[in-house]
Amino acid sequence: MTAAGTWVEEARAIVRAYPKVRAVEDVPMVSRTYLGVGGPAPLMLLPDDVEGLAGVLAHFTAAGVPFDFLGAGSNLLVADAGPSFAVVASEGLASEPRIDGDMVVAQAGFSVPRLVTRLVKAGLSGLEFAEGIPGSVGGCVRMNAGWHEGSFGNAVVSITTITRQGEVEEVRGAPGTFAYRSSPGLAGRFVAAATLRLTPDDPRRVEEKVRFYHDHRVATQPAGERNAGCIFKNPEGEHAGRLIDACGLKGLAIGAAVVSDRHANFIINRGGAAFRDVAALIDAVREAVLAKTGIALEPEVVQWT
Ligand SMILES: Cc1cc2nc3c(=O)[nH]c(=O)nc-3n(C[C@H](O)[C@H](O)[C@H](O)COP(=O)(O)OP(=O)(O)OC[C@H]3O[C@@H](n4cnc5c(N)ncnc54)[C@H](O)[C@@H]3O)c2cc1C
Repeated sequence: MTAAGTWVEEARAIVRAYPKVRAVEDVPMVSRTYLGVGGPAPLMLLPDDVEGLAGVLAHFTAAGVPFDFLGAGSNLLVADAGPSFAVVASEGLASEPRIDGDMVVAQAGFSVPRLVTRLVKAGLSGLEFAEGIPGSVGGCVRMNAGWHEGSFGNAVVSITTITRQGEVEEVRGAPGTFAYRSSPGLAGRFVAAATLRLTPDDPRRVEEKVRFYHDHRVATQPAGERNAGCIFKNPEGEHAGRLIDACGLKGLAIGAAVVSDRHANFIINRGGAAFRDVAALIDAVREAVLAKTGIALEPEVVQWT
């Protein structure tokens, strides 16, 4: 097991043996996350080939090098000191999705809004709700991203994954693979690609549904301000945003982090917010809602410390 702090050396040595896996150092997470918070990642891998990445992960795990995965960074709150592990980014795995009838194979790093535009053109229905979810395919599979009645997992037939031991494995999208904003069946694997099954429909009808979701999002969510989407999961039968609003917390601010006036389940970075500001605001909201309603909100945003 690598001692804390010494893993960077160990990781560098492993990555050197895989010249096709690009690695960069001291990458500011401020510019890699939608919320715009977080210090530099000591080491970031930008693989464009699954086999090479599998080899690196096998060695990382054997050597005790800690690592986690980055998609588009739209659901992440990163510590001011930066992540204390190697970051594996999926952006290099972003080739054009393969569409064959009602089946689509999309790589992890492909942007979900772009995928939705491809599906409109192909006349494939099922992911219209995801038009405004600014994540990657890998991140949306991992988070089982969803909105209203739709969720990503419903369209997933199978997932090409890399286990933490570096085995490339296909996981079926079966009952239990996905849960609300989570993917217990993936057990921490890297999502390399997803095979989706959609429903053929008239492209104009698919586009109309996309526009419906778009208009609803524009009318109800903050636009043009840095945020990470919903901060809390919705409790069973409730809306976290409604509870937070009912507790009078819209506009509550700590430092440059503020509860959105437009949608109470969003925290906005007004500019230069620190991790501690956002984390303290999350705690303050949670405590106020618990005290007033007895409901303990659970964060949806993933925190990297
Ligand atoms: C304006 C806005 C609106 C949003 N609206 C919605 C919404 O309607 N519904 C919704 O569910 N979410 C929403 N979100 C949140 C976010 O877009 C989703 O959670 C999305 O799934 C995150 O994808 P990502 O690629 O950005 O993942 P990241 O933020 O990069 O990572 C999120 C988690 O996924 C893991 N991960 C990322 N890539 C991989 C991979 N390839 N393999 C394995 N694990 C991986 C990360 O380690 C982390 O745990 C919104 C966010 C914003 C900023």
